Amino acid sequence: MEQRIKGTTGLMGLIGSPIGHSGSPDMYNFCFRYHGLDYAYLAFDIKEDQVGEAMDAVRTLRMRGCNVTMPCKNETVKYMDELSAAARIVGAVNTIVNDNGRLTGHMTDGVGFVNNLRANGVEVKGSRMVILGAGGAATAIQVQCALDGAASISIFNPRDPFLERAKHTAAMLETETPECRVQVFAMDDTESLRREIAQADILVNGTSAGMKPHAKTTLITDLTMLRPELVVADVVYNPLETRLLREAREVGCKTVGGKGMLLWQGAAAYQLYTGLEMPVEEYQAYLKEQGE
Ligand code: NAD
Repeated sequence: MEQRIKGTTGLMGLIGSPIGHSGSPDMYNFCFRYHGLDYAYLAFDIKEDQVGEAMDAVRTLRMRGCNVTMPCKNETVKYMDELSAAARIVGAVNTIVNDNGRLTGHMTDGVGFVNNLRANGVEVKGSRMVILGAGGAATAIQVQCALDGAASISIFNPRDPFLERAKHTAAMLETETPECRVQVFAMDDTESLRREIAQADILVNGTSAGMKPHAKTTLITDLTMLRPELVVADVVYNPLETRLLREAREVGCKTVGGKGMLLWQGAAAYQLYTGLEMPVEEYQAYLKEQGE
């Protein structure tokens, strides 16, 4: 790594807090080495109220790009010169591209989800979807799937403040992607949940339910709602196979875990920064070598 760094080396990075656990520096630096690109990637602990200063730094240090994680994703929107359609509709940015001081904010979480499904042989275009959740991850997925031509999206969320966000997303998508039918339901409306899942091609858990230390939690407790033709995907990647995915697999459903979404959202950002395809397979092989 040190041998790579020279006077010409450009800086890229990640902002958010906490960031100490992030796998992004390892992933991007591997890819820069792989492609022989003269960049180095570091993670910076930045709180929400420091985003403005961080954006000044992106310009001053002529960083080519910067990833954004919690809690800075919503705040970053205010400081962009331009937004991608997904970032504008979601109201959040996870990838910033700096073109000579002009900052464009993108949201690649949804792209990561769609590309991960594609890598598993599942296409979103034309599909009927049920998406549980209305937080950051679920909203990014809802918006990208609507942009990518899903036929319908039924959003279910508990009666918490995120339910209002679901209604806001549905209203935005009604204007932005009128060909995709978006409906919102409360999670305790089990009759609607059963009906919507029965008519769906893809069911997605976009909530933190099932994530460690609550790995025993699942939002689908009545397994008769599932059928083998249904694809079941989860955003949770810790554990790699959630209870929902294990039970859906046992029913005979094709299942897709959240780990790939993380990788593919990074791959989408990498392409925006460099114009190159991320060496996903090579990086996965490298991770295996490292015993991860
Ligand atoms: P968030 O706080 O923005 O949203 C949380 C959502 O979960 C809300 O819809 C809330 O109503 C719902 N929720 C929380 N606890 C629940 C429970 N017990 N039962 C039912 N619903 C519940 O969070 P987020 O940033 O959207 O993250 C959600 C999950 O997605 C986390 O597990 C996170 O690790 C994961 N995530 C994965 C990726 C990926 O690339 N795979 C990316 C982002 C987030």
